[in-house]
Amino acid sequence: MRVDVLRNVFARNEAAAAENRRLLDQRRIVCINLLGGAGSGKTTLLEAVMPRLRGHMRVAVLEGDLATTRDADRIAALDVPVVQLLTDGGCHLNATLVQHGLARLPLDEIDLVVIENVGNPICPANFDLGEHARIAVLSVAEGSDKPSKYPLLFKEARLVVITKCDLLAMTDFDLDQAMRDIRRINPDALVIPTDARGGRGIEDVAQWLRSRCRVGADVECLNVMG
Ligand code: MG
Ligand code: ZN
Repeated sequence: MRVDVLRNVFARNEAAAAENRRLLDQRRIVCINLLGGAGSGKTTLLEAVMPRLRGHMRVAVLEGDLATTRDADRIAALDVPVVQLLTDGGCHLNATLVQHGLARLPLDEIDLVVIENVGNPICPANFDLGEHARIAVLSVAEGSDKPSKYPLLFKEARLVVITKCDLLAMTDFDLDQAMRDIRRINPDALVIPTDARGGRGIEDVAQWLRSRCRVGADVECLNVMG
């Protein structure tokens, strides 16, 4: 019985994800799913990167959280269109909730939608939201053992951003080990160490997003880029 329920949930999610992707492709909007544990620095990364996209592309954000609009407020402060998706305690976003979020955005005026998933290194990775690519975030504060412990988060990501590298000297985080483990799990992912406060790697992340989303370019073509 329980297996049937889960299967239905995934089947419904896959259908909604396919609808989202169709809508986004029609509108030539690139969509990125940003995943990582609570406190890994996803919102801070967006705050650092968004100003570097201005003038290159029009960006909107869907903010996933269990409760509060705190992260959406931070994005709105950057003058970026944002919709808060509240899961009311749910530990991941699903494609149906994203569908409702997309319906609230001015899609004619958007080239890139970033979905910040609920802070959780585990189950969000199981749910296709209709995105074209995933970015996985790992913070130095979480520890360099996490890629091996949460491989699915990293397996599906095109880009892995290691955040809070300003803490490297204060922790026993082994950057080489983390990079090796990520490459073993996902040889195709690009890995960028960053520090949002000092600015390390932020331009590289912005450049990756800009190259994914040349305005007027063929979305289909961009999707197959590594
Ligand atoms: Mg956040
Ligand atoms: Zn969940």
